[in-house]
Amino acid sequence: MGRARVKESTDKSMARYIGPKCRLCRREGMKLFLKGERCYTPKCPVERKGAVAPGQHGMRSGFRLSDYGKHLRAKQKVRRYYHLQERQFKNYFNQASQSGTGTGLIFLQLLETRLDNVVYRLGLVSSRQTARQLVGHGRVLVNGKRVDIPAYQVKPDDVIGVDPKGAKHQEVKSALKNDAYKVPDWLTRKATVGKLIRLPNRDEIEKEFDEDLIVEFYSR
Ligand code: SF4
Repeated sequence: MGRARVKESTDKSMARYIGPKCRLCRREGMKLFLKGERCYTPKCPVERKGAVAPGQHGMRSGFRLSDYGKHLRAKQKVRRYYHLQERQFKNYFNQASQSGTGTGLIFLQLLETRLDNVVYRLGLVSSRQTARQLVGHGRVLVNGKRVDIPAYQVKPDDVIGVDPKGAKHQEVKSALKNDAYKVPDWLTRKATVGKLIRLPNRDEIEKEFDEDLIVEFYSR
C-alpha cells in the first residue's frame, strides 16, 4: 500500500514514475513545481503540511538516511526537479565533468539552460512539463527558427519566443497574466519574447540542491 507507481521499461534507469506528483515533492523534502499554477497557491501540500515524506515512516522523527541514501536523495531531487530520466541526467553530468573544473556548477547550468527550462523560467508557461510540450509541438522559436527539441541548449544572446499559434495557447495566456512571477536576472522578457543574457550564477539556481553530493554520487 502506498508504494510509488512506476512504469517499467526494459532499462531500469529509464523507469518512469506515473504516480501522484505531489508525492515526489514530499519524498524530496521540497517543492519541485510539478503541477503548474497550483504549485504557487496555498493548495500545495508542501505549503499546507510541510515537506513530510510520504508513507508510514514519513512522520517518524529521527529517521536517519545512510550515506548512500543521502547522496541518492540529493541526485533524485535535482533529476525530478528538471523532469529527466536517469540516462539523460547522467549524460549532463558526464558532459559537465569533462569540463575539468567546477563540475557541479556547470552541471546545474547545463540543466538550467535546456530550452524547456528556459521557456519555463521566462514565465511563458507555469511548469516545465508544459514547457516541454510547447517545445515538442514546435511552438517555440530560437533566434527566429523553430526548435522542437526540449533539450536544446540555449546560449547567451539567444532570443527565445513563442510563435503566434503558441501565444494563443491557454497555458501561455494564463502564465503571462501572472504578475507575481519574476523572471530571473539572467533572462529578460517582453511579452512572448525573451533573451538569455548570461549563464545563471549559483545563487540564482535552487539553493536546496547539493551538487557536491551529486558529484560524489557519480564518482563512486
Ligand atoms: Fe504538488 Fe506543491 Fe509539488 Fe506542486 S510544488 S507538485 S502542488 S507538492
